[in-house]
Amino acid sequence: MQKVRGILIGRMQPVHNGHMQVIKQILEEVDEIIIGIGSAQLSHESKDPFTAGERVVMMSQALAEMNVDPSRYYIIPMQDINFNAIWPSHVKMLTPPFSIVYSGNSLVKQLFSEEGYEVKQPPLYDRLHLSGTEVRRRILEDENWQELVPKATAEVIEEIDGVERMKQLSIREISDI
Ligand code: NAD
Repeated sequence: MQKVRGILIGRMQPVHNGHMQVIKQILEEVDEIIIGIGSAQLSHESKDPFTAGERVVMMSQALAEMNVDPSRYYIIPMQDINFNAIWPSHVKMLTPPFSIVYSGNSLVKQLFSEEGYEVKQPPLYDRLHLSGTEVRRRILEDENWQELVPKATAEVIEEIDGVERMKQLSIREISDI
């Protein structure tokens, strides 16, 4: 029988518990999930501090922590392109075939629904705290960010000295103004 595949695309800067909750829920609805690591070309910027490769490691180790069978997911980095109208085709070129797009991002939803895809908006879990913006803010302000992310994300950030990287980026961006 043909497999039902869904896709979730996010910048995942960094991977946090909201992403993992939503992935868990999607895996209850589809046979396989494609996880697109968006804006793969970006790193070393305060809104996008981590490289695509670092985000891939965060995601694959967080899925292992959740005991997700590796045959049920694909993790695919995808660069942005300048043309929104053809972005869904760009994504399609990079991924196995899929029929359902899961997103809370209004542009992503609009672009894929105009292409005829089934688009679903999964519920947001504790959006006040579970967002990349909040994790990055807490990292910079030395607050407890570890409680918002899987162990895997905290380990990668420690391994790459990510807190120091983010602090340097923030100092550089302020001094460049
Ligand atoms: P994100 O990491 O903020 O979120 C990704 C998804 O995770 C969301 O859609 C949402 O469904 C889920 N999520 C996040 N927090 C959650 C929570 N607390 N509870 C439940 N679910 C939660 O990433 P994003 O900004 O939506 O990423 C979209 C990507 O698509 C970006 O990389 C963007 O550049 C890319 N994009 C590119 C083009 C182009 O290249 N032309 C066009 C559109 C979008």
